[in-house]
Amino acid sequence: MTIFHSTRSTTDSLTSKQAIRKGIADDGGLFVTDSLGERQIDIAQLTGRSYQEIALDVLSALLPDFTEDELTQCIHDAYGEQWADERITPLKPLGDDYVLELFNGPTSAFKDVALQILPRFMAHTTAQQENERVMILTATSGDTGKAALAGFADVPGTAITVFYPEGKVSEVQELQMTTQSGSNVQVCAVRGNFDDAQSAVKRIFGDTQFAQQLRSESNTVLSSANSINVGRLVPQVVYYFAAYAQLLEQQVINVGDEVEFCVPTGNFGNVLAGYYAKLLGLPVKHLIVASDKNNVLFDFLSTGTYNRQRPFFQTISPSMDILISSNLERMLYYMSDKDTRLIQMLMNDLNQWGAYEVPEAMMTKIQSLFGCGWADEDQVRDCIKECWDRNHYVIDPHTACGYFVMQQIPRDPLTPRVLLSTASPYKFPRVVNESLGLDTTGSDFDCMDELSKATGTKAPEALRDLEHAELRFNTVVDIDGMEDAVHQAAQRN
Ligand SMILES: *Cc1c(COP(=O)(O)O)cnc(C)c1O
Repeated sequence: MTIFHSTRSTTDSLTSKQAIRKGIADDGGLFVTDSLGERQIDIAQLTGRSYQEIALDVLSALLPDFTEDELTQCIHDAYGEQWADERITPLKPLGDDYVLELFNGPTSAFKDVALQILPRFMAHTTAQQENERVMILTATSGDTGKAALAGFADVPGTAITVFYPEGKVSEVQELQMTTQSGSNVQVCAVRGNFDDAQSAVKRIFGDTQFAQQLRSESNTVLSSANSINVGRLVPQVVYYFAAYAQLLEQQVINVGDEVEFCVPTGNFGNVLAGYYAKLLGLPVKHLIVASDKNNVLFDFLSTGTYNRQRPFFQTISPSMDILISSNLERMLYYMSDKDTRLIQMLMNDLNQWGAYEVPEAMMTKIQSLFGCGWADEDQVRDCIKECWDRNHYVIDPHTACGYFVMQQIPRDPLTPRVLLSTASPYKFPRVVNESLGLDTTGSDFDCMDELSKATGTKAPEALRDLEHAELRFNTVVDIDGMEDAVHQAAQRN
């Protein structure tokens, strides 16, 4: 029996459905299961299988209380026509390396992989009371918000409220959110940065009095669509296997050969999914954590000290502008041999002192699997240009962080390297055009057209059409006003 409990205690015992519905543990920890890896994926069977078939295999191992029919239905609905490529996450050559495109979903960012299926999972979880509604509460640094809105809009039994830091997301990202349709959605800008907004959302989740109020007034329970939710994390494990399957099909590797992945990282969700894939039997040699100028993870992985007390930089890769990487907690849990007391102590240190230090022996283990690096903004711009000149392939600023870090790390000719590409360059057309030396005098939409003309690539229609979409939301709140905004939204719909 697969039981989920908090990374900080073993008192809970939840099924995966309950963990998905609840989002985060009462003690602030993240849900984990000690059964992870007991069921292995047979990599010899991967060749020739579709993304959807691989997904069924992987998700059955990770969410065993869902029936095969339930999972099949969720997968069918989540990974269908709304994707621009039938392989869902196509693998393409990039010089001597490979790129795994994760951005062919409806909102052009990798978060679609998880957020197209999370609402479908949620629909199979059981309400504690009749007519109960789940309200998804999400703080976003840019991409999660839109992907969550697209996933949850008009899903019966749900509502969604998204907070984004005012002025700290791209023009396209903001329009994607403020034009979102649906009767159960709300979008609010927040005066503050992403970490402020995320911390406030975590506080709201921890406010039991507020939870009771919502339940009694409007039969609403709160849940999370941030990557702290188990249901958000596990769908991402699938594309690591899908990448491996494509390497096998393209005869780059034989079954059992090791592969290296380079992952643009913020909240540590994407790269953690790679670690889960390894625990499920995928031959992963290294996972390379690529950061932007907010290089807290680089410092942690190279020194063993996590210190969030540092300046926050707003960069051209906003979805990686993060000082607290929440999902790191799950990696620490497994790397500490499931020591909830240690994790609780570390997280207390982080709350109280803004820093923690991981024991040396554990750090050695972590460093043998996780490589790291970071890129500043000039390096990101240079890489966008270099990647285009060298490979005739356009990358976005997040992917460019990964591209830069991958070039820094010595290449072992026997181990294929896969760069995870996390967003379409058309989400950040201004920065991309600046980097490529193209015209940037007009709007973001003019930049898209220019980019299209110069590179022979095509803007995703959903992005290009934003120019004429109707604006639905223009509310701005203070950090202190967020709880009230949630309260009002719960009463409204
Ligand atoms: C969210 C995001 C990331 C970071 O992913 P994490 O799972 O938070 O590490 C990187 N790039 C883009 C484009 C994103 O949207």
